[in-house]
Amino acid sequence: MTPPPRKDEVALDAEVREKIHLEILKRTGAYHSNDHILLPSGHHATEYIDKALVTTEPSFTEGLGAVIAKHFAQWPVDVVLSTGPGALILSHCVARAHPSRPIVVYGAKGESSGKRRVVLPPEFHRVIGKGTKVLIVEDLVTTGSTVKLLIHLVEQRGGQVAGIGCLWRRTSKGEIEGKPVFSLVSRDFPTYPASACPLCKNGVALNEEFVKRRERRRHVSTEEKKPS
Ligand SMILES: [Zn+2]
Repeated sequence: MTPPPRKDEVALDAEVREKIHLEILKRTGAYHSNDHILLPSGHHATEYIDKALVTTEPSFTEGLGAVIAKHFAQWPVDVVLSTGPGALILSHCVARAHPSRPIVVYGAKGESSGKRRVVLPPEFHRVIGKGTKVLIVEDLVTTGSTVKLLIHLVEQRGGQVAGIGCLWRRTSKGEIEGKPVFSLVSRDFPTYPASACPLCKNGVALNEEFVKRRERRRHVSTEEKKPS
């Protein structure tokens, strides 16, 4: 019989795994580092995660989804719930690999009276009810505000949230509303207002590409909404 791993071996293992996952995300083109990047918020940083690219490589997404599913395999799950296109692709991969064979549904993001909200489309109402066990899946968790909306949605319908699985967690919190968060990469990086940015002080050229790309994407989606 092999002896159980020592505690420092477990920690090392987690560190190695995190490095591998980060390397995978780098290969999708979603993760950028060692740069001087203008963020959508107007702040500057040396790192950036391009959310749209995180789940573009099917074999990577399947592999990463399976790791999340394995972590939650000991808990029965009826439904995997997410919101947003990237997270939905990942949800499919998590559900496919989970032994409970959960189904996959999504909440629709929107706004009402200036407040962000997530609603469950009427077609899915019968799926989440009293006692339904739900695993929430996200691609990126930054502040956790979307995850909180999803938790409230489930609990208002009488369901139970088993946990939250995500690719990347920027918040240091290992729990959201008392629910455990499992992430493949847990990493935050400092961001600076332009006036206090050390890279600006050293005269490093600013990379505005990501903000420009986002603006182009937004422009396209408003064009699509115009009646034809
Ligand atoms: Zn700067």
